[in-house]
This record gives sequence, C-alpha cells and structure tokens, in this order.
Amino acid sequence: MIMRKKPNILLTVVLKLWSAHCRERTRVWGTPGVGKTTLGKELAQRTGLTYVNIGELAQEGQLYDGFDEEYNCPILDEDKVVDELEDKMAEGGVIVDYHGCDLFPERWFHIVFVLRTDNTKLYTRLESRGYSGKKLQDNVQCEIFQTILEEALEAYQEEIVHQLPSNTPEDLEQNTEQIVQWTEQWIKDHN
Ligand code: ADP
Repeated sequence: MIMRKKPNILLTVVLKLWSAHCRERTRVWGTPGVGKTTLGKELAQRTGLTYVNIGELAQEGQLYDGFDEEYNCPILDEDKVVDELEDKMAEGGVIVDYHGCDLFPERWFHIVFVLRTDNTKLYTRLESRGYSGKKLQDNVQCEIFQTILEEALEAYQEEIVHQLPSNTPEDLEQNTEQIVQWTEQWIKDHN
C-alpha cells in the first residue's frame, strides 16, 4: 500500500500574558476554552487526520516535571512531549491541540491556526467550566491584552500562521470547512 503524505496542523491560542510573568506556566495551565478541542475533533472526523490533545497526552504518559502549587497544576515536561510525538509527526497527518506553540519544533507543522474568542464569551465559557478567581481573571486578561498572535508569529513563518474567529457555532462550521478544504488541497498537491 502506498502511504499518502498528510499535513500536520497546529490548533492553538497563545497566552502571552502568562509567558510575560510566569513563563513555565504557559504550558501547563488548563485549556483556554476557545474551541480548539471541538474544532480538532471535528476536523479529525472529516479529514481522517489524527487528533492529539497535548494535555491528555501528558496526563496519560505522565509527561510532567513537577507540580505548580500556586496554580494547582502539573508542569509539562516539554522534552518528553516532543520525544513522545516525534515519530508520529514525522509520519504526518496529525492535528495538535495546545495552548502554546514555541515548545514544538518549527519543522513539524505545515499550517498553524490561532483561535480567537471575544472576552465576554470566553469569560462565560471558562466560568461554566468551573474556573474561578485568579485562573479565570488571568485567562481572560490574556485576551484583553490581544497579544495572542505574537508567539505564533515568532515561532513560525508568518505565511503559515492564520487567525480564526471562534465566537459562534457558525464560526466553528466555517473554520472546519475552511481547514478541511485546505487539507484536501494539500494532500492533492503533495501526492
Ligand atoms: P479549548 O479546547 O480551546 O479549551 P473547547 O473546544 O473545549 O475549547 O470549547 C470550550 C467550550 O466552548 C465548549 O463548551 C464548546 O462547546 C464551546 N465552543 C467551542 N467552539 C465554539 C464556537 N465556535 N462557538 C460557540 N461555542 C464554542
């Protein structure tokens, strides 16, 4: 059987505020509720690509390097995560979901999508997820500062980084459609 080449896609949201004052925590802290998981799973179903949630992968393999008492969350061992994924990424056809991006080798991804959600909506989503106090405030503040694209643009070539609105179910549908089409075209062009 001939293996078809498939692209690797990163779905992310980059929370610069965390990086600014607590760099390590950018990688370990919950999920920001912008719709990466929902979009990633939907895309995997439609394209046949494999969805990988870094938070779950770390939990399953205990790819941690300590525990952060202040924020009550484990600290991700970035090297172990990268080692764990290396072979799969080399094969291609992986959708990675994570709220950060500069831990991954640049060569891994053919395209990067940075999801954006309006603050009020984000607040409600995170509240309904049980976030409260500092964790809720800090998450939402990251969005207020609107520096979300910065890290992705620093880590990857500008032309592969795309910003997508993720406020409504219609956005979700449109984003899915757009990425499915892009994926099909990529596969055609590379096989
Ligand atoms: P993340 O993976 O970024 O943390 P999730 O995919 O878990 O985000 O989504 C967080 C919540 O927001 C879920 O309840 C989901 O149903 C909802 N949601 C996701 N995308 C959208 C969207 N485009 N419009 C409205 N609600 C959404």
